[in-house]
Amino acid sequence: MSTTIMPPGRCAGCGHDLVSAAPESAPWCPGCLWNLDEYDPALAPWRGTKLVGRWGFRRGLRIDRATRAELSADPDAGPDGTSTGEVWLSAVSVVLGLVGAVAVGYLVWLLLASGLPAGVRVAFALPAVLVLLLVKPAFGRVPRTGVLSERDAPQLHRLVGDVARAAGTPVPDVICADLSINAGVARLGWRQRSVLVIGVPLWVMLPRPARVALLAHELGHLANGDPRRVRRTLLARTFGARAVAATGGRNPWLRAVHGADSVAVHGGGLVALLSLVVHAFLGLVNVLGATAQLLVDSVAMPDSRRAEYRADLMARRVAGTDAFLQSCEVVLLADRVWSELWHLAPRIDGEQLDAMAAELREHQAPKLRLARQLSRRGTDLWSTHPGEDQRMRLVETLPRVDGTLHVDESRWADLDRELAPWRRAVHHALLGTRDRY
Ligand SMILES: [Zn+2]
Ligand SMILES: [Zn+2]
Repeated sequence: MSTTIMPPGRCAGCGHDLVSAAPESAPWCPGCLWNLDEYDPALAPWRGTKLVGRWGFRRGLRIDRATRAELSADPDAGPDGTSTGEVWLSAVSVVLGLVGAVAVGYLVWLLLASGLPAGVRVAFALPAVLVLLLVKPAFGRVPRTGVLSERDAPQLHRLVGDVARAAGTPVPDVICADLSINAGVARLGWRQRSVLVIGVPLWVMLPRPARVALLAHELGHLANGDPRRVRRTLLARTFGARAVAATGGRNPWLRAVHGADSVAVHGGGLVALLSLVVHAFLGLVNVLGATAQLLVDSVAMPDSRRAEYRADLMARRVAGTDAFLQSCEVVLLADRVWSELWHLAPRIDGEQLDAMAAELREHQAPKLRLARQLSRRGTDLWSTHPGEDQRMRLVETLPRVDGTLHVDESRWADLDRELAPWRRAVHHALLGTRDRY
């Protein structure tokens, strides 16, 4: 998070200067962490209302604390069978599946056997069609571009295979590269194949051992009992998101007002009223969908959060404590390093990206402490990952380990050669976005 920190006074407890991330946001003490865990609407993820946001933020903190305590006592414990979260999401999926089946049955009856006039049939069919659109599974799509086959990238496949072996996880079905500052594992397509996506900008910013930590974390997701990454929870995981997307995304009320405003400017009062009614209806569906999804997810999130920490413990085991902590630090500084690279792009070429990123990381290191503390404010119950600070704390409480997988420099050099076209693509992306200004 790139925020300017401004000092708003002194801590009554330890005398340290207080800091604050934005003028309207609550100050905290970087020395004794006073007030750090305060809900901050300016930084916490927006969840429709402050009430829900605050509840999710506090619940997230409690779950983080409990999960860290549990896992630091027994860091090597694997997931024990099916989690409560998975049972819950599977049950919701079954109910949604039944609702869909009833809607299909009703439609078949309406069209073939009801004997009603055609116009009435169409009118009666509409609600069932809407229900079907809502509960239809969203499989997602395996990316078409950026897929790195074993022939294109044998070294990368070999490395991913080694990490999977060291971690005791399956290998992903597909490996992709893209230009995001991110990485992830998802189940996509109607066969729900496991897809590992490596954001090359993040990859080049990471020191080499930290790349192993990143891969181990992601592969850890294929075997850590995360209820939100299992095939049979698909319906429950996606129905609310679909309602939100179908009705135009976030902030529906704002859109309703703006929509009516602009119609009022261009047209008459009646049209504006009608538009307001339509927008309000869409807004209602939107908020109901989002809330239902948050409620369903809140039951599964503790297990999902535990799975994230387990993936981190996997990264620690395979890549070692230092590599894992480095990977967290890079994530914390990634946006800043990226924007510095953006400024430097015309003066370097793609081959120099890694070295440049390493230099910039050093340069930004003094900002790490506050960025790390601040990561606690930007995370809540529904965040996909715990804040970096929470993740680092768990690993820091455990004994330092070296990791079980070591990749020698010549292999890294081969890997770099293999990904050279992607480095050039990253460099072009940096130059390309500059051209727009
Ligand atoms: Zn203090
Ligand atoms: Zn993860």
